[in-house]
Amino acid sequence: MSIQSFHPPVRTLMGPGPSDVNPRILEAMGRPTIGHLDPVFVTMMEEMKELLRYAFQTDNKLTMPVSAPGSAGMEMCFVNLVEPGDKVIVCQNGVFGGRMKENVERSGGTAVMVEDTWGVAVDPAKVEEALKANPDAKILAFVHAETSTGAISDAKTLAELAHQHDCLVIADTVTSLAGVPLMVDDWQLDAVYSGTQKCLSCVPGLSPVTFNQRAVDVITSRKTTVQSWFLDLNLVLGYWGGGVKRAYHHTAPINTLYGLHEALVILQEEGIENSWARHQKNHDALRTGLEAMGLSFVVPEGQRLPQLNAVSIPDGVDEAAVRGALLSEYNLEIGAGLGAMAGKIWRIGLMGFASNPTNVLFCLGALDAVLSGMKAPITSGVAVEAARAVYR
Ligand SMILES: *Cc1c(COP(=O)(O)O)cnc(C)c1O
Repeated sequence: MSIQSFHPPVRTLMGPGPSDVNPRILEAMGRPTIGHLDPVFVTMMEEMKELLRYAFQTDNKLTMPVSAPGSAGMEMCFVNLVEPGDKVIVCQNGVFGGRMKENVERSGGTAVMVEDTWGVAVDPAKVEEALKANPDAKILAFVHAETSTGAISDAKTLAELAHQHDCLVIADTVTSLAGVPLMVDDWQLDAVYSGTQKCLSCVPGLSPVTFNQRAVDVITSRKTTVQSWFLDLNLVLGYWGGGVKRAYHHTAPINTLYGLHEALVILQEEGIENSWARHQKNHDALRTGLEAMGLSFVVPEGQRLPQLNAVSIPDGVDEAAVRGALLSEYNLEIGAGLGAMAGKIWRIGLMGFASNPTNVLFCLGALDAVLSGMKAPITSGVAVEAARAVYR
């Protein structure tokens, strides 16, 4: 065998996640591994919960990272809150709503789907109709920031409707956390999950979650046992549940948690409002440049996520060849379309650490050069200057 150490290339990550990881986070992850029950580690865990409460804008006691990626946070919400026979209203306007449906059904529940066109926000009027037609529904589930299309939905209004009809709310905030305003307490989102590799700019592999008292009460009064041993909150809490006494549940991903701790310290230093404003500013510049080039946005104005820019592919352009050239010649990754949007759009992420003016100008310049080289129908040579004007 002559296989040697793996040395990945240095890329600029401007896709739907993972996003560029702040070097401070990678440095934090290289610090010495200590035991997951070490008192020093336990102190770090308590700080982490505090920092996560700030990120989520909540006072929820039950706030912690699940030791697995965003999909596990999703699953934790559903398996703990849904019991066999429960009815759940699921909003779908992209890929991730479809996964929520899967989770409801695998938990033994029935999913009532509220469908919206991919690329637009969830329509509250349709949700209200579904809530009225299903007075026995227990939960309303929706995706705040649909990464597959770049559309944001009005989480506050959806949660209000759910509570008017005595439903709990499960909200997917994987892409929204730290990128756009997300107010877990003000909006009364009951069960919320997120991810680390999007606007927190941490490595993938952890899923911050938060549950309010209403959700905890439902979980602790379940009639049936949660069928997932690993994700059963009643068991996980023996480890994460505060106090000095910690019981072994699983070995926490210690060094990855150092990374998340550092990511959250960075967020605290910047200030969450400043983080939201930075994402918006860089989106404005990128959008101005892309539109000057002649590319158009898929999502209607007012429903666009600043951290995920979905643009239509110009006529006659081989979209995979463009992404390939960006990757091989510029070390720049942008995202392809997912699901129903495959082959129709590019998804340009401006998430977390990657949301900065240098990346915006670099991406516009690279895209301009690659598209011009392919004789694509764009206006060449104007995008970078148009974006620079936004920053001036
Ligand atoms: C990325 C993403 C997920 C899944 O997160 P993983 O870390 O890939 O498991 C779930 N929901 C949304 C909206 C996402 O963007």
